[in-house]
Amino acid sequence: PTQEDSKLLVRQPKMSTTEIIVSIFIINMEKQDKEEANRIESVDLAARKGLDPYNSLASKAAAGTREDPNLVPSITNKRIVGCTCEEDNSTVIWFWLHKGKAQQCPSCGTHYKLLPHQLAH
Ligand SMILES: [Zn+2]
Repeated sequence: PTQEDSKLLVRQPKMSTTEIIVSIFIINMEKQDKEEANRIESVDLAARKGLDPYNSLASKAAAGTREDPNLVPSITNKRIVGCTCEEDNSTVIWFWLHKGKAQQCPSCGTHYKLLPHQLAH
């Protein structure tokens, strides 16, 4: 939470600490959702133009099977993946990939796995 968020909530005297924590959490979730929604929109637009500014489109270097999933690097525990399913396909299937088990594209069944990595400081 930013300092501004905290100040805003502390001004409401009737709130308990738990309520404040929950509120901060919800505010952050809403912010993230909004940012992510904007991001998806811009990535989708760029993808339609044949660009991939966020490197969101996973490469199909791996076989994409359960044993050899496409590895998707991420600095967080989840990220959006765009699957083109078939080459020359103009439709991009967007779905959330979470840390842990490999997940399948809901359209073509290609396997993807989140590859957590740290940001260089
Ligand atoms: Zn697919």
